[in-house]
Amino acid sequence: MAELLVVGSVALDSVETPFGQVQEVLGGSATYFSCSASFFTRVRLVATVGQDFPKEHVQLLEDRGVDVGGLSVAAGRTFRWSGAYGYDLNEARTLDTQLNVFANFRPALAENLRRVPYLFLANIDPELQLEVLHQMRERPRLVALDTMNFWIQGKREPLGRVLREVDVVTINDAEARQLAGEPNLVKAARAIAAMGPRTVVVKRGEYGALLLDDGAFFVVPAYPLESVFDPTGAGDTFAGGFMGSLAARDRVDRGTLRRAMVYGSVMASFTVEDFSLNRLARLAPHEIERRYADFEDLIRLERA
Ligand code: AMP
Repeated sequence: MAELLVVGSVALDSVETPFGQVQEVLGGSATYFSCSASFFTRVRLVATVGQDFPKEHVQLLEDRGVDVGGLSVAAGRTFRWSGAYGYDLNEARTLDTQLNVFANFRPALAENLRRVPYLFLANIDPELQLEVLHQMRERPRLVALDTMNFWIQGKREPLGRVLREVDVVTINDAEARQLAGEPNLVKAARAIAAMGPRTVVVKRGEYGALLLDDGAFFVVPAYPLESVFDPTGAGDTFAGGFMGSLAARDRVDRGTLRRAMVYGSVMASFTVEDFSLNRLARLAPHEIERRYADFEDLIRLERA
C-alpha cells in the first residue's frame, strides 16, 4: 500500500439543487478527494483554510485517518464556492467563487510529504499545482490532475505547463470539450492526451466515465441511482476512489486502471446521495465492496 498526497481546495459551499439547498457546508476538491481516497490508503492533505473554518470539519477528515498536518490556517476567510443545478444535474452553474485565503497561498511542503509516491493535484489554481509538483524530491510514481472551466479560462498558460508534466488527467465532459476546443469527446480525449498525459479520464456525470489509456478506450457506466440529491463533489470523489485504489495496489497497469475506474464510479455514486460529505462520512467499507460487486454484475456480458 502506497501513500497518496493531495493538494486542492478545502471550501465552504452553498449549493442549490431541485431537491433542496444548503449554505456554507463543507466542500472543496481536496476535501471530497481525501475523504474518498481514505477508504483505500493513507492520504496526506495540503491546503489552506481561514480562521472561520469550523473545527468539526477538520475533525471529520481526521476521523477518516487523513493526515491534516499540511492544512494551514491563514488569516482571512476560507475559500467559498456557490453553485446551482437544474433538473439536468450534470451541469453545475457557478454562481460565485471567492478564492479568499487561496489567493495568497504558497504551499511549503514538509519534508515527509516530498517523497509521497502518488500525487493528486486536485482542482485549484494550476500555478499552485505546479508549485507542489516541483517541491517533490523525487518524481512520484503517478501524478494526476483535475481542473475546471474557471482555470481553463483564467489560467490557460500555467495549466498547459502542468499538463505537460502529469501522467493522468481527470476532467468532466464539458471541460474536456472546452480544454480541447473540440465537441467530439473521443477526439477531445485524444487532444488532451497530446498535451502531455498518457491517461485521460473523462467524467460524464450520470452517463459514467471514459478512460483513454495509451491510446486504448474503456468505459464504465454510472451506478443507476434513483436518489440523486446533490452532484457536487462527485468528480473529486471519483478521483479519490480512482487514485486511492491505484495507490492501495501500488501498481498502474491496464487492469488496475480499469478497476480504478469502477472504484471511482462506486465512490461517486455514494457522494451524490446526500449534500456535502454527509454520505461519505457515514459510509462503511462493506458498502463499497457490495456496490463494486453490483457494478461487476451491471457490466458483465454472458457468453451467447
Ligand atoms: P466537483 O467534484 O467537480 O463537483 O467539485 C465540486 C467542488 O469543487 C466544490 O466542493 C467546490 O468547493 C470546489 N470548487 C469549485 N470551484 C473551484 C475552483 N475554481 N477551484 C477549486 N475548487 C473549486
